[in-house]
Amino acid sequence: MIYLDNNATTKPYPDVVDVMGQFMASRYWNASSGYGHLDGLEEVVESAKASIRNLIGATYDDEVIFTSGATESNNWAVAEGARRCVNNGYILTSQLEHPSIKEAFDNLQRQGVDVRWVNVTKEGLIDLEELATLIDPDIRFASLIYAHNETGVIQPIREAANLIRSLAPQCLIHSDATQAIGKMPISFTDELNQIDLISFSAHKFHGPKGIGGLVIRNGTNIEPFIRGGGQQSNLRSGTLNIPAIAGVNVAARKSLELIEGNQFQSIQTLRNYFESRIAETFPDSIFVGSQSQRLANTSFFGIPGADADDVVYALAAEGIALSKGSSCSAQSIMPPLIALLMEYNHEEATSLLRVSLSYENSCIEVDELIQKLVELLH
Ligand code: PMP
Repeated sequence: MIYLDNNATTKPYPDVVDVMGQFMASRYWNASSGYGHLDGLEEVVESAKASIRNLIGATYDDEVIFTSGATESNNWAVAEGARRCVNNGYILTSQLEHPSIKEAFDNLQRQGVDVRWVNVTKEGLIDLEELATLIDPDIRFASLIYAHNETGVIQPIREAANLIRSLAPQCLIHSDATQAIGKMPISFTDELNQIDLISFSAHKFHGPKGIGGLVIRNGTNIEPFIRGGGQQSNLRSGTLNIPAIAGVNVAARKSLELIEGNQFQSIQTLRNYFESRIAETFPDSIFVGSQSQRLANTSFFGIPGADADDVVYALAAEGIALSKGSSCSAQSIMPPLIALLMEYNHEEATSLLRVSLSYENSCIEVDELIQKLVELLH
């Protein structure tokens, strides 16, 4: 299998699999039990939190709360936003968001909460000019994605957050950083310094599935979303998934090494090579978001006339895995919404395919993909 769908999920690092196996086989104690501390389970949790803080440039005082993944973290953040505007005010998000934000906002809107949506530019960016017109001191909560899962476009999150903060100092600001974390250098103390909450998911950076978290800036008070036995300082109840937390620890450290070792430079070179070969082979091909800053590993490209569903199935039969965009929309017959928002026409939008690379991909694999596309489409 040539695996080119790393924005959907990634292959766990072998060391992640090893450590999780060890914990499941012999260190299966409940971390909250009277004897869990004898086996150092609390240190495992603290060490994983420290690795996440290092990966995202957070300080020791910023809290990392483990959840079942970014879907839960996003729903939690939005629920807190809704709580803050029960009697007055409004909440804001963008048209670009992942369904775990969009659906949560849609649901609140149906319940009568005042929701404002900021649009997308043709370049796949949050429209900052429109954002400026949508913000006033009554805003209680804003959620904006950091890097888009389909286009890979990196959003002007610093500018957006500064704008919101300047007009509404008390507004709670969240960013879904799920696709950015582990794929680019990010800093909770630099470009994200006006953001109060960020979501992450370990399976996007070669960690296990079913675990992620919400990072809460020091001094930000939020209510729990999942209630129960009071684990994680009562902020997220449920028996801690120690094997997965041990896996997160390894994945976060290794991903930071990849970023610091400039591995993403090589991944970007491979992505650019892929795009230049596609452009020369299919002269009318399109590359969505390529005028903007993008994640190094992502290419969202279209060959007008091709049908993305047919291509995905045909390539899968040849042992090549890629997708026609977000895996959440893989079953949908609709073209990707983001492409329509960016004003691509229906033919272009239905041809779009997403290649998302990892450190494991090679030039040979990319050449094979191009060869198969030629056979299918020429
Ligand atoms: N946000 C974004 C931007 C994503 O790409 C994803 C995964 N598709 C999620 C949230 C949801 O993450 P999880 O699978 O951990 O629930």
